[in-house]
Amino acid sequence: MKITIGHLYPDLLNLYGDRGNIQCMKMRLAWRGYEPEVIEYNLGDRIDFTKTDIVLLGGGSDREQMIVCRRLQEIREDFHAYVEDGGVVIAVCGGYQLLGHEYSTPDGDMEGLHLVDLTTKQGSPRLISNIVLENSIFPYPVTGFENHGGRTHLGKGLKPFGKVLCGYGNNGEDHQEGVLYKNVVGTYLHGPLLPKNPHVCDYLLKNALERRGITEPLQELDDSQEIEANSYIVKRFVK
Ligand code: GLN
Repeated sequence: MKITIGHLYPDLLNLYGDRGNIQCMKMRLAWRGYEPEVIEYNLGDRIDFTKTDIVLLGGGSDREQMIVCRRLQEIREDFHAYVEDGGVVIAVCGGYQLLGHEYSTPDGDMEGLHLVDLTTKQGSPRLISNIVLENSIFPYPVTGFENHGGRTHLGKGLKPFGKVLCGYGNNGEDHQEGVLYKNVVGTYLHGPLLPKNPHVCDYLLKNALERRGITEPLQELDDSQEIEANSYIVKRFVK
């Protein structure tokens, strides 16, 4: 079965190697006998959300986010329908901020997609740290790296991606990191989020497959090295 991953604006939202996340989803699907297809969409392209199983929106600088956010207004309705229908989204950092209502900065305010009830305001200093979070839906903590000026606050009742055990998370104050809404994951964890956390990758794949009617558990893969690295990082950073 073909599973289609839409990579949105890879030429602009590409900080810290978001492609590694695509590669990880691709391989973990292929190892289980699925046929992954990746479609890169650039600014002028029409996105067919009805043929998409997973959308990746990566990180970007404020300047690049400003360019992207204008285009996002044009695809907002289709993107909204996709999310409400249970479409899987993984949005990282700059992409995560743009899922919300707005990202305001001293150089101008950017309107977001209004897909998830959250707002972001730039603050100082930048929040830069190794980060570890936990969420009981995952078998292991989630480890990564964050580097953002934005402080994000979630609307009432929204669940975070995890509780911060080390690092700053959404705003450095409420110990929440990212957001989970329907099948959307928004997070500040950069770069190799999925290769480092195969349990998060499988969470996305499982949701995408379930939406296509495949309900049997995912075939186990040998993640022993990743699990060992995860436990080393947790011991090192969580006091
Ligand atoms: N420009 C945003 C910020 O600084 C997001 C940065 C990023 O994607 N790393 O908050």
